[in-house]
Amino acid sequence: MKLSRQFTVLGSAIFCVVIFSLYLMLDHIDYSKNPNGERNQNGQLGILQDKIDHLERLLAENNEIIANIRDSVINLRETVKDGKMFPEGSMSQGNGELLPPAPALLPIHSEDCQFAARTYSKAADGVQMLDVYDLLSFDNPDGGVWKQGFDISYQDNEWDNEPLQVFVVPHSHNDPGWLKTFDDYYRDQTQHILNNMVVKLHEDSRRKMIWSEISYFSKWWDGIDEQKRDAVKRLIESGQLEVATGGWVMPDEANAHYFALIDQLVEGHQWLERNLGVKPKTGWAVDPFGHSPTQAYLLRQAGLSNMLIQRVHYSVKKHFASQKTLEFFWRQNWDQDSSSDILCHMMPFYSYDVPHTCGPDPKICCQFDFKRLPGGRISCPWRIPPQAITDNNIQERVQTLLDQYRKKSKLFRTNVLLAPLGDDFRYTEAVEWDQQFENYQKLFDYMNSHPELHVQAQFGTISDYFEALRKSTGMDPVGMNVGQLAFPVLSGDLFTYADRDDHYWSGYFTSRPFYKRLDRVLESHLRAAEVLYSLTLANIQKYGQPSDYPAVDNYKLLTEARRNLGLFQHHDAIAGTGKDWVVVDYGTRLYHSILNVKRVIVSSAHWLVLKDKPAYYHDPSNPFLQMDDVQPSQDALPRKTILEVGEKPRLLVACNPTEQARTSMVTVYVTTPKVRVLDALGHVVRAQVSAVWNDASHAATDVFQLSFVAQAAPLGLSVYQLMEGMEPRTEAAKYMFLQDGMKISVSKPEHFSQFYQQDAAPVHIENPHLKLSISKATGLLEKMRLKEDDSEFLVKVEFAWYGTTSNKDKSGAYLFLPDKEATIYSPSQPPVVRVTKGPLFSEVTTTFPHITQNLRLYNIHGVEGQSVEICNTVDIRGEINREIAMRITSDLNSKDRFFTDLNGYQVQPRKTMAKLPLQANFYPMTSMVYLQDSGTRLSLLTAQSLGAASLKSGQLEVIMDRRLNQDDNRGLGQGVLDNKITANSFRLLLEKRSSAEEAHISQRSDAPSLIPYSPLSASFPCDMHLVNLRAIQSKEEGGGPSEQAALILHRKGFDCGFSNRNTGLLCTTTRGKIHLEKLLTDLKVKSISHVSLSLMHTHSSDANPQEISLKPMEIRTYRLQLS
Ligand SMILES: [Zn+2]
Repeated sequence: MKLSRQFTVLGSAIFCVVIFSLYLMLDHIDYSKNPNGERNQNGQLGILQDKIDHLERLLAENNEIIANIRDSVINLRETVKDGKMFPEGSMSQGNGELLPPAPALLPIHSEDCQFAARTYSKAADGVQMLDVYDLLSFDNPDGGVWKQGFDISYQDNEWDNEPLQVFVVPHSHNDPGWLKTFDDYYRDQTQHILNNMVVKLHEDSRRKMIWSEISYFSKWWDGIDEQKRDAVKRLIESGQLEVATGGWVMPDEANAHYFALIDQLVEGHQWLERNLGVKPKTGWAVDPFGHSPTQAYLLRQAGLSNMLIQRVHYSVKKHFASQKTLEFFWRQNWDQDSSSDILCHMMPFYSYDVPHTCGPDPKICCQFDFKRLPGGRISCPWRIPPQAITDNNIQERVQTLLDQYRKKSKLFRTNVLLAPLGDDFRYTEAVEWDQQFENYQKLFDYMNSHPELHVQAQFGTISDYFEALRKSTGMDPVGMNVGQLAFPVLSGDLFTYADRDDHYWSGYFTSRPFYKRLDRVLESHLRAAEVLYSLTLANIQKYGQPSDYPAVDNYKLLTEARRNLGLFQHHDAIAGTGKDWVVVDYGTRLYHSILNVKRVIVSSAHWLVLKDKPAYYHDPSNPFLQMDDVQPSQDALPRKTILEVGEKPRLLVACNPTEQARTSMVTVYVTTPKVRVLDALGHVVRAQVSAVWNDASHAATDVFQLSFVAQAAPLGLSVYQLMEGMEPRTEAAKYMFLQDGMKISVSKPEHFSQFYQQDAAPVHIENPHLKLSISKATGLLEKMRLKEDDSEFLVKVEFAWYGTTSNKDKSGAYLFLPDKEATIYSPSQPPVVRVTKGPLFSEVTTTFPHITQNLRLYNIHGVEGQSVEICNTVDIRGEINREIAMRITSDLNSKDRFFTDLNGYQVQPRKTMAKLPLQANFYPMTSMVYLQDSGTRLSLLTAQSLGAASLKSGQLEVIMDRRLNQDDNRGLGQGVLDNKITANSFRLLLEKRSSAEEAHISQRSDAPSLIPYSPLSASFPCDMHLVNLRAIQSKEEGGGPSEQAALILHRKGFDCGFSNRNTGLLCTTTRGKIHLEKLLTDLKVKSISHVSLSLMHTHSSDANPQEISLKPMEIRTYRLQLS
């Protein structure tokens, strides 16, 4: 299978490359909260203390090293400013090696080590989800009318003193794409719902409605006139219409990365602020397939006080119902106090449709869904139809409904009851509004005029409900302060969801993995574009002259990309659970936005690196810079563009969008193997030339890979040049070809030599950190040796197949229903194994019929050199009902414990349970999965969301693609058969300590002078992540940028509990403090204020807002103006 084909850049277009390393290597958080945790806290603390002491001794020394490095960086910049960019005569040997020197120990402040060392104790009335899982038997007995629950009884006089308060909340669940595309749903359904809403709510001021998806709302808003807009504003002011959550979509909480979760929330909230002036108070998430505490935290940080969730494992719901813990404060695992608490309501029953929301008996509740009145298009599957409410039947109807309300109320702690009234795309037609609202109003009027019923019923919004709930418990209306704790505290997450039987929704953690990867490609490019764009605007302002830079056009491209990325976070989009053509619609949006944000990156980088600013021009048809890869279509893998190298120097710009100074391998495709690479000072940089392969053993003759180690300042752009010529510091790679453990002869690749290893020993590739043993027969990893202490570990990579069950219900887009444990992948033909050895990287490429694995080791200090890069190109298009997994077996004694991240933001401990079916032990892996024993941790970092498990001690497993021939009866109505050739990228990290993330650009020239750009004088602290620097839209017409940007920071939880070897990071920790202006080189902070996550609320001004200070794990937003 071909990894890629190439095409060449024509003419003299200026050339540009961006390479992102896509791994979010979160600093690992080790929770020892669970009483069954294996880590011995005291022992661990002792070891930690020793390490801290050792570190402190080294701190002074290291600060000096860092200061020296900074000085030299500053000197370098000064030199460049003097115009001595490529001084003549300095083309000779550079000063020193290109592998970065000085394995400097990371200077960490001891206080910054406390986060991971803490014991997390739960509150007195606390519920930890891991404990709940230990407790539950998952036996699924028949519960009667409430099938998954139990009989509920009550006494008639229970409400005599305090009447039952019922809030019926009308809602319409509008998926921004699922069975139809976003635009088709809008045209056929959503616009009618919203149009009717304006009319029907105005008819009676007692009517209410909630809306949550701003993607739809804003599209509708754009097409309505001022009169209608005013009517909507009046409905909002009067409280009849409430915007719940107010994100761009109702996001998937398993596969979405927190960058994108934040971005779609900011996009929705910023739209609301500009157009309606409303600030959502309550979250509403009835359909995401399992719930993450990350989303709870983000809502809380955005200033919301309450939230509602629905799709939770039926056994958990039943347990919480029996304990009356369906309403709780959701608290983050790592939270030391209660600052992350948000009041959460978990819906108790099977679904959010009307049959499952009025009470425990769906046969009864369905009779109160008046859209199902006889003669309509839908009916009740329980075969008892609704009756229109009349004087004749009202008494009986009220008694019947009230019985359900009362029973439901018994599952909660207060007399306030929530009864949602809606379903997917409800309230499209005027008649449906009349059916529901008129019949319910009759029921309410009757209830409220009969005091002996002790009930007060009304339409309400979701915040009306929470307001009454808070009032009934003596809580204040928005805060989390409770005099008497009426609700318990819950910590942990709500994966993996099952709605019935053994139907676990773990399939969608992997479904359509090609697009899960594409999502992250857009995400990383969008982030880079946002940061570069904001820096460029500030830089232009500082420059003080008008410029040709397309600020407004670029802002529009960014806005569109934010919205397309936001749309894809929808729970049927990134989840991979839409119809085939809907998937194509999403893919096309992502694809176009990738092209567009690359334009923003290129035009911004052009300005920033240009020495002679007046020479800046913007010509979209002939961009100054070009990127190094091109994706030919929405469903194809990107191809490398080929850089034509001749006698004239060709410039290459490396862009580092991370907040850390980075050393990183850059690989570009060039037209000649005789090439030299020079850095900004004209020093020759060591480089490796490798072949480009048309297939497993045939090299291209006219294109070559050129790799070199680039250094880039934090958020900076560095400049390299390539030119033709023989150069001893550019070395060619050597090759060996094997099949079935034996040498095979291939036509000798021109320019490259071959080698052969005679003995039967495994193939070894190594760098200063690691030595890998790879099977000669399979080409797959078998052992890893850590050079720091010469310890060797079994780390065996295999592939495996899952089939689907022979039962009636089979695996589909949502569900994973395997037939049995996976069987090892063993193709009848032994694979061709190609071994590459070179000075900068070595790799083993193994070509199986369904997978090409590329396992690469960089000969580089720092983060990239400490992990093994694994890229699996998977193609299962010819299979029937099969899923393919990568399995990594180690000798780590991890028992039944492992860890997965949630949304790339935090780490959640997991426990594999024999009492659960295999598919229940799979969890979402957004950025990593790891396992560990007392001495070692093995992490698999991923560049795309996939499903992962640890089914045996020491073993990790990741599902890479799934091809399923049937629907799994969750409404999609099709299987998953649109598989693509998919590249899954990972890094495998074996450690006694770790960290980071990264990227670059490159370019060619005839050529104007380019100077490196470094906006920061030093790296951010090691634990501080710049989530985004996102330009804010101007309030004026035209959709351009304002002068302000949202600076979003995340202080990671830091774990010092690993041996401290060189991470290659030139950063320290600072107890969560940054002085922004001191970090900036040229730009000044004009204004800065602390605001809520999505900028809706301004927090009381800090004494000195320049001094930014974050607690571990905190995410904070600042409204920032640079000049
Ligand atoms: Zn939905």
